Amino acid sequence: MYDHILIRYGELSLKKGNRKTFTNRLNNHIKRALSSFEKIRFEDRGVRYYVHLNGTEPDEIIEILRKIPGIYSFSLVAKTNSNIDDIKNLAEQVLKSEIKGNTKIKIETNRADKNFPLKSPEITKEVARHIFKNIENIKADMHEPDLTMNIDVRPEGTFIYTKVYKGLGGFPSGILGKGLLLISGGLDSVVGGYLALKKGIELEAIHFASPPHTSAQAEQKVIDLIEKIACYDSNQKITLHVIPFTKIQEQIYRNCQDDYGITIMRRMMYRIAERLAKSVNAVALVTGESVGQVASQTLESLAVINEVTNIPIVRPLSTMDKEDIIKIARDIETYDISIKPYEDCCTIFVPRHPQIKPKLSKAIEEENKFDYESLIEEALLNKKVYHLSSKKHTNIFINDENIENLF
Ligand code: ATP
Ligand code: MG
Repeated sequence: MYDHILIRYGELSLKKGNRKTFTNRLNNHIKRALSSFEKIRFEDRGVRYYVHLNGTEPDEIIEILRKIPGIYSFSLVAKTNSNIDDIKNLAEQVLKSEIKGNTKIKIETNRADKNFPLKSPEITKEVARHIFKNIENIKADMHEPDLTMNIDVRPEGTFIYTKVYKGLGGFPSGILGKGLLLISGGLDSVVGGYLALKKGIELEAIHFASPPHTSAQAEQKVIDLIEKIACYDSNQKITLHVIPFTKIQEQIYRNCQDDYGITIMRRMMYRIAERLAKSVNAVALVTGESVGQVASQTLESLAVINEVTNIPIVRPLSTMDKEDIIKIARDIETYDISIKPYEDCCTIFVPRHPQIKPKLSKAIEEENKFDYESLIEEALLNKKVYHLSSKKHTNIFINDENIENLF
């Protein structure tokens, strides 16, 4: 009976001039993500997008659609011809399959096909009369229904559905261009990365490792985290650059005033990240910083740290509370990986009293006590690169070139 999925674009529809670019990108992502289901077909209706199931079980498809950025909501729908008898019969069938025991129902009709001979309230009335005659245990309730049956009368047919699944929202994958995510193994930065992906920012990632002070397990954590969020990208892939950071950290520890250690370390991270961003055509950095969370995230600290770059920095968590960040981490299943106890380079050499109000002139004076330029060059030269893919659904990846031929 439910033989289609109706996909709604939401926020996308607002982007008048660019609408087509947006919807094309989203539709391609949907096709690509569902390409392993052989029987399904796609139908582009401009303001909506339909997946024809042709007998395919919808459960797995629903789970995939929930993870596609730019989808506002979607529904499993039953389709029939736009004539009143067919509509009445399908409405009866749908309700019979949905109700259990006494059910309060509401019917909502939308007549998008202005040539249809009956107006919306008349369609509702006709359908109501039919179902109340043929189905027991149902009662009309306009205010607190257990179930709302939506009847959508369109030129291409009439669609009936009772459930609306919430999509991820945001923008289609990669529509805003590329960002470079600074990712630690902690809770925050991976959530920041997920929020950036959801908002249409394609990602590469950079991680600073300080072996032997940090372990191989700490690096593996970062790999696992990226593999978790790669499913939100339309290619299901994210490249990770691991930068050897040991020498720089040791030099900071040896040469710089203790309480400026973290400020200077983070200035070095931003410098390296900006250079890498330019070389991989990323137009922004993305971090997991949240104002006030730790000493290096006071506004004064952020100002001194930010001063080394010109590139925009996206901080999706900037004003979020930790509880809300943790809730997202649980939803996207990164929480259990993040809380594994391996040390990050930020947690080694931590001064007892880090500056919460660093002065720019002092930071510059301290960092000039060693030749960081040559160390930055060396670190970038010795980076390791991993091409990581989503662990789930990796089988559904196909190349851009193939996509037009396939459908
Ligand atoms: P997280 O939970 O992401 O580790 P945090 O609250 O611990 O963040 P900091 O340690 O001050 O905060 O780090 C702030 C941000 O700097 C992180 O969110 C991340 O974007 C970046 N960062 C920290 N450590 C690293 C690292 N080892 N490699 C890459 N980026 C890092
Ligand atoms: Mg951290």
